[in-house]
Amino acid sequence: MKPGFLMVVSGPAGVGKGTLVSELIRLNEQTLLSVSATTRAPRPGEEDGVQYWFKDRQSFEQMIHEDQLLEWVEYCGNYYGTPVDHVTASVAEGKIVILEIEVEGALNIRRIFPDAVLVFILPPDLETLKKRLSGRGTEPEDVIYRRLKRAEEELSFLSRYDYFVMNVSIPQAVEKLTKIIDAEQRRVNRNPELVQRFQVV
Ligand code: 5GP
Repeated sequence: MKPGFLMVVSGPAGVGKGTLVSELIRLNEQTLLSVSATTRAPRPGEEDGVQYWFKDRQSFEQMIHEDQLLEWVEYCGNYYGTPVDHVTASVAEGKIVILEIEVEGALNIRRIFPDAVLVFILPPDLETLKKRLSGRGTEPEDVIYRRLKRAEEELSFLSRYDYFVMNVSIPQAVEKLTKIIDAEQRRVNRNPELVQRFQVV
């Protein structure tokens, strides 16, 4: 059995990481998305339990107090957090659990799980990112401005990540993510049974 692990995917808003992650999950049956909890309002088309578990602030704070979250942050005025639920059990069962989370959460995950793989999704260049951020059309001006500032901050965390994938085209970027998964599964330290099997002396 190929080993499972946690794969954190981050990148500034507007870089297309949501699309990449859903495509990766559609194509690779060993992968599984960790559905985060958030107090942000659902965007058109988003469903509870699919993109996020949508919570009010009180329920979210209760989750914090009851230790139901592996990590959580306040981002642009809303809470976001990773439910503990099935994460570790799924990894133990050989799943690649994908956490699509921002940079602070990513570093917290690394502290808890030093084996987690951190992947940063980059835009082809900064101009493209700015265009994508203003062009989404689903958010008011002040939100776009805050996200742009936040995008700059997030990019400053790039050096703390293990891999980058530049999102020039979706199929190419998904292929790169697949290659990262493949390489990580071939790490000798993720395969103790294989090491054991080949110890003849
Ligand atoms: P959005 O509101 O655009 O869906 O997400 C805003 C940011 O929150 C994105 O960078 C997304 O990756 C991040 N995010 C989503 N869920 C979580 C989570 O559970 N924990 C953390 N730390 N960040 C999250």
